[in-house]
Amino acid sequence: MSTVLTGIGIGRGVAIAPAHLLRPAPEPPADEPAAADADAAIETVRRAFATVSSQLSDAAGNAAEPLSSVLEATAMMALDPTLSDDAAARIRDGAGPVTAAAAAVEGVATQLEALGGYMAERATDLRGIRGRVVATLLGEDASASAALATRSIVVADDLAPAQTSTLDLDLVAAIVLSAGGPTGHTAIIARQLGIPCVVQAVGALEVAEGTPLAVDAATGRVVVDPTAEEIAEVQASVDREAALAADTAPGATSDGHPVQLLANVGTEEDARRAAPTAEGVGLFRTEVLFLDQATAPDAETQTALYSGVLEQFPGHKVVVRTLDAGADKPLAFLSQADEDNPALGIRGYRLVRTAEALIQEQIEALAAASRAVPGTELWAMAPMIATPSEAADFARRARAAGVATVGVMVEVPAAALKAADILAEVDFVSLGTNDLAQYTMASDRLRGELSDLLSIWQPAVLELVATTARAGLGAGKPVGVCGESAGDPLMALVLTGLGITSLSMAASALPAVRYAVRHHTREQCERIASAALSARTAEEAQRAASDLVADDVRTVLGL
Ligand code: PEP
Ligand code: MG
Repeated sequence: MSTVLTGIGIGRGVAIAPAHLLRPAPEPPADEPAAADADAAIETVRRAFATVSSQLSDAAGNAAEPLSSVLEATAMMALDPTLSDDAAARIRDGAGPVTAAAAAVEGVATQLEALGGYMAERATDLRGIRGRVVATLLGEDASASAALATRSIVVADDLAPAQTSTLDLDLVAAIVLSAGGPTGHTAIIARQLGIPCVVQAVGALEVAEGTPLAVDAATGRVVVDPTAEEIAEVQASVDREAALAADTAPGATSDGHPVQLLANVGTEEDARRAAPTAEGVGLFRTEVLFLDQATAPDAETQTALYSGVLEQFPGHKVVVRTLDAGADKPLAFLSQADEDNPALGIRGYRLVRTAEALIQEQIEALAAASRAVPGTELWAMAPMIATPSEAADFARRARAAGVATVGVMVEVPAAALKAADILAEVDFVSLGTNDLAQYTMASDRLRGELSDLLSIWQPAVLELVATTARAGLGAGKPVGVCGESAGDPLMALVLTGLGITSLSMAASALPAVRYAVRHHTREQCERIASAALSARTAEEAQRAASDLVADDVRTVLGL
């Protein structure tokens, strides 16, 4: 008899394979005695942190992006003197060395958890360090439990990047976590690499090693020990998704109305992976290249990094967003005053007020990259714009540096309401629906428990998207969407119907969106959009849109 676990699916992938449980890292021995020689024990613990850091750096060198950057950042965390100093103090107070090292890491992880949101998810990275340090001090091989002999579905409580690094990703058919969150590193890595993933699958750890599992990320379902019939069902989805992915034609409705299908990328590696299926890049999040740096990369380094991404899309456009740092994406080299409400503070393009040279240097590096790779169209875009004057300021700087096409993100409600005035200053806008929903609904985008309020289907959010789209149609200028909502096939139909000109998403989301758009006429999309816009609640809006979707599309995509 099969049983079904339900969690939150990441992406749309499906997989059938045996479960491989990743055992938790070893724990310090109970009642570990105090060290006989405290100084020697402190030195041993310091060396263990250094060993773990260099193991992680080595793993970073062998891993592809985005895992490589995550591992490099975790390697730096392991060297943070706060950890070894705290462990030293505990050893002097009489704790055993393994206990002291574990408690020092756990203390910082708990503090991060108390901060909530993005910071809380970094606690998982620290616990990965804790496991490795304990294993090192006990003389165990930290990577032993992770070794995969055959293609498997990895099941764990949560996966730290340090654990992910020990996995042969070619053998990972899917990932199922009993904990984890949709914005955690595992989810981000799985989404970027197109690995089917389900998080928050309560009960997953009770699955016995080797039990067959069928994972469907689109529905968030994990069937344990599936029947022949259930296997056939999932196999049909596997075949369908593969068939969808084989179609890489430019995005268009069935009657030929073009809707560009673009990729969201953070690194050259992402761009390379997206190139076969995307018509270009709709959002290059440049802060990803800055996040783990101790100092700002100089202009030449930046130009080389941007050129590397541009080179992946000859003959196409690449929309590069200037630094969107601050709030949940702090940069080590940008010392910012403590802010009580960082999401409402100096973030995104507002950094031009406090770090003008940094923004100016980036704009110039972008212009230089555009000159260096003339075969690709570089469109420059500023984040977190609230007023037409901010848009005008960015446009002036970017045009003066030699950037031909300039635009801004619409992710603050004020910008959506004044989209027509903003479009008078720039060549295009792109809706960041993640932040637009957060700011419209006054709900932290990282708080899973507010996901009902954060829904892009909320009538107030849809209204702002429609207002922006209308402004674009009026001005005859492109209005794209690059928030997560663009990757939802049903929402993609609504956006197409509203007159959105491009949809940008994780590359793994492109095939289903392409299929949905191609199987409706422009007029059908307009009817779907107007049904959604007339609804009074998010649920009604989604249902009204879904009711008008063509039957075959509903079946194929499981909408
Ligand atoms: C958004 O806010 O929708 C967006 C695309 O930007 P980010 O997710 O990087 O804040
Ligand atoms: Mg944003």
